[in-house]
Amino acid sequence: MLTKKEIVDILKDDSQNKELFELADKVRHDNVGDEIHLRGLIEFSNTCKCTCHYCGLRAENKTVERYRITPDDIIQFAKNAVNAGYKTIVLQSGEDVFYSKDIMCKIISEIKKLDVALTLSIGEKPYKELEAYKNAGADRYLLRIETTDKKLYKALHPFMSFENRKNCLYNLKKLGYETGSGCLVGLPGQTIESLADDILFFKENDFDMIGIGPFIAHPDTPLKNAPNGSLILALKVMSIIRILMKDINIPATTAMETLNPKGRIMALQSGANVIMPNVTMSKYRKKYEIYPNKTCTNEEIDKYKNYIETKIKSINRTISKDFGFRNI
Ligand code: SAH
Repeated sequence: MLTKKEIVDILKDDSQNKELFELADKVRHDNVGDEIHLRGLIEFSNTCKCTCHYCGLRAENKTVERYRITPDDIIQFAKNAVNAGYKTIVLQSGEDVFYSKDIMCKIISEIKKLDVALTLSIGEKPYKELEAYKNAGADRYLLRIETTDKKLYKALHPFMSFENRKNCLYNLKKLGYETGSGCLVGLPGQTIESLADDILFFKENDFDMIGIGPFIAHPDTPLKNAPNGSLILALKVMSIIRILMKDINIPATTAMETLNPKGRIMALQSGANVIMPNVTMSKYRKKYEIYPNKTCTNEEIDKYKNYIETKIKSINRTISKDFGFRNI
């Protein structure tokens, strides 16, 4: 365990970054091994009712061409991914009420017939809906808290409630989901102290997965002139989380690779053990622009898997053939 002050000191001092990354890599090796879990990500709708200040998909961004993939096509993309060897499908979208409880349950139960683990990342939902999705077969849920700094949260998320997001995370745990959270690093106005609070919040709640992404400024958002977050700081936050939460799943995030072509490899060597390649058809992918220049937006599914496999082999790691639940 580390105190808040100790975390702040580590985050502020860059003289021992190499040692920090190496320790996180060792903790990863000793606790979750050398296998990397691939999760096939389907971004099925870029329609969103929220207006998060950092996100390119915010409702007020009129330059986005909105799409909704039909349930049949979502199921087909999942089949393609399973055929390509993926053991987990992640369904992600904006907060889009078009996909009602019944529609989502149908999609979930069809995908679960494919003998695959299923993760949802579809924003805040009422308890009843989360319960229905769990009963339909969903295994995991990703909902980043984004920041635990309440004032900053309020400033960046008009019409949203920090308490509601937190309750949603508690409900997910109560319902038996493997629950993932995480935060953005480098938001304008975010302090190192609040990042330490984020880390302690994750530890306290013992989440099963934590995704850390550097903030990347999107030109069609209110934060267009803000500087991007730092990859190194994001990696440091991630490394500390690995050291404090030894057996959880931690993705090497796409935002890390977007800031530096080596970003994801650096993450895999600093505590991460998961990659979430995009398996959505490429004609949709360009339109799911939460931030600009998202990596590999044009690659087709098999080609991209080969590319990732080559990268993984180059650092002497292997691809897992298991579902990759926590502790398994
Ligand atoms: N609607 C879902 C999915 C959101 S997209 C939800 O609310 O959970 C997934 C993640 O992208 C978000 O949680 C956020 O952390 C990240 N993201 C959004 N805009 C970003 C930006 N400009 N830079 C980096 N990451 C961003």
